[in-house]
Amino acid sequence: MTAQDVLDLSAAQTARTIADRGASAADVVTASLARVAANAALNAFVTVASEADVRVAADVAPQGILHGVPVAVKDNIATTTLSTSCGSRILAGWVSPYEATAVSKLRAAGAVIIGKTNMDEFAMGSSTENSAFGPTRNPLDHSRVPGGSSGGSAAAVASGACRIAYGSETGGSVRQPAAFCGIVGVKPTYGRVSRFGLVAFASSLDHIGVFGRSVDDAAVGLQVIAGHDPQDATAVDVPVGDYRAAAGRPLTGLVVGVPTEYYPASLDAKIRAKCDRAIDVLRQLGAEIRTVSLPHTDLAIPVYYILAPAEASSNLARFDGVRYGPRAAADDLSDMYERTRSEGFGPEVTRRIILGTYVLSQGHYDAYYLKAMLVRERITQDFANVFASGVHVLFTPTTPSPAFTFGARSDPLDMYLSDIFTATANLAGVPAMSQPIGLVDGMPVGGQLLAAHFREADMFCAAYALEHALGPEALA
Ligand code: GLN
Repeated sequence: MTAQDVLDLSAAQTARTIADRGASAADVVTASLARVAANAALNAFVTVASEADVRVAADVAPQGILHGVPVAVKDNIATTTLSTSCGSRILAGWVSPYEATAVSKLRAAGAVIIGKTNMDEFAMGSSTENSAFGPTRNPLDHSRVPGGSSGGSAAAVASGACRIAYGSETGGSVRQPAAFCGIVGVKPTYGRVSRFGLVAFASSLDHIGVFGRSVDDAAVGLQVIAGHDPQDATAVDVPVGDYRAAAGRPLTGLVVGVPTEYYPASLDAKIRAKCDRAIDVLRQLGAEIRTVSLPHTDLAIPVYYILAPAEASSNLARFDGVRYGPRAAADDLSDMYERTRSEGFGPEVTRRIILGTYVLSQGHYDAYYLKAMLVRERITQDFANVFASGVHVLFTPTTPSPAFTFGARSDPLDMYLSDIFTATANLAGVPAMSQPIGLVDGMPVGGQLLAAHFREADMFCAAYALEHALGPEALA
């Protein structure tokens, strides 16, 4: 078997093949770099590791579950060997003096980091058009976006350069690009994976997430980075389940909720049909399907676009030394706009800082920030109620449309609506994932599974079964 062939095996099989001496780890990572180079037109990577470096890393890689497996990491996750620029001019070329816990865990499991992937600046966006290093292209159609903000990681996996890549999620930035690129994307429970070394966007919503070519790749990818971390007070000490144990398990006894609010009359009929088909398949596999309601769903986007910018305005102040605190008077904002732009942030990041400072400013705090916090509680309670009623997982579309063309969402409000089905999980902190369920107009669409806090295993159980039953239909 050639190293190129090994690259097409699942991540777990790749590691096993290397352990059995069916291929050398160094040759596998070199083959991966060759695929990155062959797909340079995608602009999926901001930085690619050198062949000499990955071969050395592969030679000394521990014989863990990802022994010799090439992985890509989003450019907002700190690595000491490659720069971490967050898609921003302001951090271009910056090399972190410490490493993210997730990255240390990957290395300990034997993975080899092939490069840092392109992203919307500071993870703000849904298309990877907002990067200071130029946009990333969708591997399935170069005239379309790969989704965002983790578009580079999604494109790296979808183009075959690697089976597993890491991204970050604040409102859907792993699930949405996974849906657009026809791969699997997982956002774990808030607190399941350490964010130590993830550059902060909106701390109460940020997560590290994982892309996999298949459900199993994503399950292994999450397994390796999950768990308690004393370096991150939010990475709690709850035992990590065995996400792969669910593979092949029957769905008898599993209750799948179908929330009406995620299937509005305005939903694209072709996407609806793909979801209906997936729900039928889950039913045939033995799951009980129940119609449920999450009544505050339509408030998720307004709430998200108050809370995320509010937290971002505070987190990003550290980069440009903007002296206006969160309680600045609203009058200072136009002055602040000039200053923020001149410091090197792009237009979307600037917009968020202004918006966030506004909703936190004296006189507006109660009307916006405080109210949004209260509504966030209701959204969280909606999920708690549904899961307490005996539902194990929810099934919804991941996005309201397949991948769009470059420039098609130039109005920021149109772009913000891309997150309509994903932002709820970040607000509530529940785990959620997207997997391919079919093509619409030649482009993939994703089906989303959500579960109760720390019940990732339930979600994976349904995902493995659905993937197996759909087979090639998942991308047809
Ligand atoms: N698209 C959303 C935003 O622009 C979500 C981004 C993310 O999850 N990082 O804020």
